[in-house]
Amino acid sequence: MNAEIIAVGTEILLGQITNTNARYLSEQLAVAGVNVFFHQVVGDNMKRLTDAISLAQSRSDLIFLCGGLGPTEDDLTREALAAVLGRSLELDERVLEQLVQLFARLGREMTPNNRQQAMRIQGALILDNPRGTAPGQYVEAEGRHYVLLPGPPTEMIPMFVEQVLPLLHKLSGESQTIRNRVLRIFGLGEPAVETKVADLLESTNPTIASYASEGECKLRVTAKADSVEAADDLIAGLEMQVRERLGGFIYGVDDEKLPVVVGKQLIEKGLTLAVYEGVTGGVLTSMLHEYRGVSSYIKEAMVLADGELLKTRLGLREYKTLEERAGVIAEAMRRYAGADWAVAVSDLVTPNEGSAAANMRDVYFAVSGPQANDTKVVRIRGDQTQLRIRAAKHALHLLIQ
Ligand code: ATP
Ligand code: MG
Repeated sequence: MNAEIIAVGTEILLGQITNTNARYLSEQLAVAGVNVFFHQVVGDNMKRLTDAISLAQSRSDLIFLCGGLGPTEDDLTREALAAVLGRSLELDERVLEQLVQLFARLGREMTPNNRQQAMRIQGALILDNPRGTAPGQYVEAEGRHYVLLPGPPTEMIPMFVEQVLPLLHKLSGESQTIRNRVLRIFGLGEPAVETKVADLLESTNPTIASYASEGECKLRVTAKADSVEAADDLIAGLEMQVRERLGGFIYGVDDEKLPVVVGKQLIEKGLTLAVYEGVTGGVLTSMLHEYRGVSSYIKEAMVLADGELLKTRLGLREYKTLEERAGVIAEAMRRYAGADWAVAVSDLVTPNEGSAAANMRDVYFAVSGPQANDTKVVRIRGDQTQLRIRAAKHALHLLIQ
């Protein structure tokens, strides 16, 4: 089955929003074993939208349309698809009733426009949208499959996972189960990772693919088998080989991001943490909040204090080098906050003239624990935003080791 994704919305063409829906759907479809051969983006215009659908019809058999399901005049997706298929739009009484109840619960007045959202393409299956007002729809026509999804990712993603994926498995007639596991890697770039697992990348079942994002690298292992257990066994076998080669660099699996791993470890051990961010502008503390238990283990987080204040408030002892300064700050911060552990991202230095243009900076880190301090200098590349994110991740990674 060949799929195509049409994102509908003038905002995307104007560069006001990024087409993350296409990215998400492509990624998920690849995992589900469906080939995506085309993406289109089209504005809120009836002629261009119907043209886009006709083009997709000529070359794809599974067509996703996302966006343009709202109640306003520029929401044209339902109408456009109905026109291309030569089908009528019918009022779906059940959807209308749900909308009426939703508006009553919200205490909002329902406008005649909102009735538009209860219009179903003749023969379509409604995909419920408990998180918003516009339901999705699934239509089959002349051997092709059309899936209409709402634009807001908070509505589109759960609808896809809960209602479209099960449908896809039925459509593709795929009796085998597909399972995935993501191995999360930090401290080793994608080329280095690929070199270490080069021969494994040739494997066909399970398959393994690498991708890099924001200073991290991920390996996705995908297996197909007759049962979940058999697929998981295949994955476990390959994972063992990967771990033999990359062991120390793998910090988590699936959705265990760095802050989640840090948070879980601290909470499990009943330990507390203090943070000093001289360089990362609060990004590190903000990332730590990605794990919801954060308030139970963070004693104090300090962002960018002036040198004198640091000395008087934290009672810094003398230091000679920047590396030593990082350690001194972490140690003082730990004592000051009464925490078991402290991490400091203390300073940032441009190592030499050429490196400023290349966006290279040396960042000074330290971790202070009950036994000793550990300091580290890392050369990080990136613009200001990337630098803060990457430095914050290095700090988190130091806490795991
Ligand atoms: P609504 O009922 O909210 O109007 P809709 O299905 O009509 O939903 P759109 O009006 O096209 O959807 O988009 C609503 C919002 O959803 C956009 O402002 C944007 O924030 C988000 N959105 C739409 N399309 C995309 C996309 N392709 N990628 C990421 N976000 C998107
Ligand atoms: Mg809309």
